Amino acid sequence: MKKNLLNPNFGWLLLLFLFFIAANPASAQKKKNKKGKKAQVEAPAKPKPPKKDKKTIKGLTKASKKIEGLFTLYQDTTNGSIQMLINKEQLDREYIYFSQIADGVVDVFSFRGAYRGSKIFKIEKYYDKIEFVAQNNSSYFDADNAIAKAAHANISEGVMASEKILAYDTTSGNYLIAANNLFLKETFMQVKPPRFPNQSPSAFSLGTLSKDKTKVRGIRNYPANTDLKIEYVYSKPSVLNSGSRGVTDGRNVSIKVYHSLIQVPENDYQPRIDDPRAGFFTTQVTDMTSMSPTPYRDLVHRWHLKKKDPDATISEPVEPITWWIENTTPHEIRPIIRQAGLRWNEAFEKAGFKNAVVIKEQPDDATWDAGDIRYNVLRWTASPNPVFGGYGPSFVNPRTGQILGADIMLEYGSLKGNLLNEKIFDEALLETYLQNGENEKAFMEHDPAYCTAGQMAKLNNMFGLTALSVLGGSELDKSKMIKEFLHFLILHEMGHTLGLNHNMKASQFHGLKDINNQEVTEKVGLIGSVMDYPAVNFASDRENQGLYWTTRPGPYDHWVIEFGYKPVKSPDELQPILNRSTRPELVFGNDADDMRSPGKAIDPRVNVNDMTHDAVEYAVERMKLAKKVSKELLKKYQKPNQSYHELRNAYLVVTSQQAGAANIISRYIGGVYVDRAFVGQQGGTKPFTPVELEKQKKAMKALNDFVFSPEAFTVPSALYSHLQMQRRGYNFISRPEDPKIHARILNIQRTVLRHLLHYNTLQRITDSEMYGNAYSLSSFMSDLNQGIFKSDIYGNVGSIRRNLQVEYTQVLINMLTGSQKTRFNHLAKSMALYNLKRIRKMAGSATGNTATRAHKEHLKTLIDNALDEV
Ligand SMILES: [Zn+2]
Repeated sequence: MKKNLLNPNFGWLLLLFLFFIAANPASAQKKKNKKGKKAQVEAPAKPKPPKKDKKTIKGLTKASKKIEGLFTLYQDTTNGSIQMLINKEQLDREYIYFSQIADGVVDVFSFRGAYRGSKIFKIEKYYDKIEFVAQNNSSYFDADNAIAKAAHANISEGVMASEKILAYDTTSGNYLIAANNLFLKETFMQVKPPRFPNQSPSAFSLGTLSKDKTKVRGIRNYPANTDLKIEYVYSKPSVLNSGSRGVTDGRNVSIKVYHSLIQVPENDYQPRIDDPRAGFFTTQVTDMTSMSPTPYRDLVHRWHLKKKDPDATISEPVEPITWWIENTTPHEIRPIIRQAGLRWNEAFEKAGFKNAVVIKEQPDDATWDAGDIRYNVLRWTASPNPVFGGYGPSFVNPRTGQILGADIMLEYGSLKGNLLNEKIFDEALLETYLQNGENEKAFMEHDPAYCTAGQMAKLNNMFGLTALSVLGGSELDKSKMIKEFLHFLILHEMGHTLGLNHNMKASQFHGLKDINNQEVTEKVGLIGSVMDYPAVNFASDRENQGLYWTTRPGPYDHWVIEFGYKPVKSPDELQPILNRSTRPELVFGNDADDMRSPGKAIDPRVNVNDMTHDAVEYAVERMKLAKKVSKELLKKYQKPNQSYHELRNAYLVVTSQQAGAANIISRYIGGVYVDRAFVGQQGGTKPFTPVELEKQKKAMKALNDFVFSPEAFTVPSALYSHLQMQRRGYNFISRPEDPKIHARILNIQRTVLRHLLHYNTLQRITDSEMYGNAYSLSSFMSDLNQGIFKSDIYGNVGSIRRNLQVEYTQVLINMLTGSQKTRFNHLAKSMALYNLKRIRKMAGSATGNTATRAHKEHLKTLIDNALDEV
């Protein structure tokens, strides 16, 4: 509308614009000059042609400091700019590029020690330029096959940089190029994350890379690697979201990155080809000349271990995998870290190596730091907003899979009884539990070592410590639990650096009978592999407590190391090892197979936070324990002269365990066991076997009893009136501080419903009825309907149940009319409709108090409106 032109804001803008023009005559003049034929001001004098000696390397580097190494660098002593020498011997040769974050902000997933992967590049000369070209290593061609001549068809290499040659020295064969563009821009790697399509406009984001503020922070040059530390500064004039506590000024954010240019190792390392039954990180390579239906030559990531004495059954390696405990590590935990890390040597003995892992301590006066890729360092950080509890990345030669370096990052916060990240805590194992699945998926795509074992284990450990406090555990018990937790965390993260990915099936190793038999578990481990995310093992019967956390690599770990590291003359020698994969103690399933997110994956044995091969019963026990603990919380957490903050934390921790257990149980309904044994392999079953009827029924009953029933979450009402956070500044400004009791309980129930009534689950139930599933869709959905309504719909329905019943009815309606209705098959929709009509009928009774009658009117209206739309 025209009127708007006259509004005060517009007037202000106009005034501001006029002021700008008045205050900047030069800028107005400049614009004019551009358009005018000739500027009135005198043109700058043409630069004189450089003197001849300036064209020499010596002349051009006169004011620079020379730093010799794999690629000799010159840094200008007046302005810090850098130049680089490339020798003609280095042209057309392959090198490895690797980068890691020296320090960043977790808001953009850049944190100290984050690895950004490695790639192969070549240096090529094109007339007067030197080019850096990333190489593709995803294909393999058998050189004897003529098709190998077409190896480069439709493969795009990446020309990362093209720099003019500034000078050439014929005697040494050296070319000099400017190197600022190589390192002070995002030439070798993308530092700033892209804006994701579904990212909120108010999400924290970086400004544009500032040329003036970005600088070289350090150069380390060695014969086999050239490393630079660069501080990238991203600036923007104003911010809506100024970031978390770690960001000092949201307008100017620094991310410090190490770039390493590395000589390709020349050695007799033999690549090992991956097998789907063993869980290694890999570099995927496709054999383009093979006729196999699975032409995979995926390279296992592993260290170059070679026996000192090749003929001995067991020998020390020529070069062990050496770890350094960073000098930032608290002294009291160093012995535990050493002991835990060295336990990996037991696994290497199966592969024929003694003392494969060596652990040393970084002296306080060491002249190197953890960013130095020549050292593998066990590091500790205390971040303002931790994104992990532990992280064990490694980097490899992409041509062979040989691991060239690794670090382990551990968060000091993992050891503490609080959580600095209040958001994670508040939603612990509810929203975050779901999101983690999604985030991990996204994050793992560019960093497969991303790991939340520390976070998950910490939440579990906090439950264990709470349960100990309530049930009268001693200080000795508590310190045992923390020590074992640390053992587990170190073993897990170190496992990643040996090349192992997660094995979320490994907690199925023992049954209920042995899980607390310490004589057994001390010897073989509490779980089949330390690469799982298990629940804390807490015995309800306090007389019978075994290990809380595993303290040594399990049988799967021994086996997988044997497969990955045993020196062999031919791959056939690995077959007998692989043939053992069907043994129950060697079960394996990784992150892609685990069922932590609703609707994801199919085998309920592959999951996080579970324990034993009777995981449903174990989870039921945990539900009972959680309930017992929550009844006592108020009594135990009244600490004189303290706020109720710790009590509130304890309540959240306990309900998180209930949420975790509910999810474990729900996955058995409609679950299908997966067996990846090869045809004819001894001990192998069918690839897909539906979960037994009794187990599914038992799971359904457990959900009805411990998640949906009117009594499922009852606690003494006095507890609710004490769930108070301690005030800090204005921390209640964004939402009121009263406990959100109904919302929290409904969240737990909703998470379970999201899985049970997920279109993937429902489709699998009907499909698996065709190959052995005896718990039919109609039985399952009827049992669920009964569980949610039967016990109270004709009497007075309590508020928690009313909330659940409306939620559930809405989920059924959404199957028929919601935005995702096309994803549900007709069979599932028929059952949804059938159940809605049954609910409509039950809600037709005019019994109960006013609240109940209002509730039933609500249900009827929802259903009537929905049925009109179907
Ligand atoms: Zn992990």
